Amino acid sequence: MTDHGLIPSELQELSRRAAAAKDVSYSPYSNFRVGCALLCEDGSWVIGANIENASYPVTICAERTALVKAVTEGKKRFKAIGVSTDISPPASPCGMCRQFIREFADNSVPIFMYGRKEGECIVKTLGELLPMSFGPEDLHPDRGARK
Ligand SMILES: [Zn+2]
Repeated sequence: MTDHGLIPSELQELSRRAAAAKDVSYSPYSNFRVGCALLCEDGSWVIGANIENASYPVTICAERTALVKAVTEGKKRFKAIGVSTDISPPASPCGMCRQFIREFADNSVPIFMYGRKEGECIVKTLGELLPMSFGPEDLHPDRGARK
């Protein structure tokens, strides 16, 4: 597994915070806990968890919960994203979340996916998870491509 430029303490914190975020998951219907940790470009951290709803489609994934929290705190650039679940092999972000992440992340941003087993991790870049994506620069070409 490549570290994607993260130092060991950042890798450790990403894993720990993503796993800990599962504790605040609100998932009484699926019992499928998901935790997400964002390492912001300024070095700060934001976490999120999946928040379910009795009206199932209203449910919000952990990744979008974390991103919405971050953006409302003025953080729109990220060095890495961690997602933790209780299954093995690890789950990856759903399609909607991949697109949501794309709004605020370059294709090179690594997404670390942690599974049930100790040390279990798969890492892919956003570009690998969402190839040929549509992003902000496609609507505003003058802002330049963020590849
Ligand atoms: Zn999702």
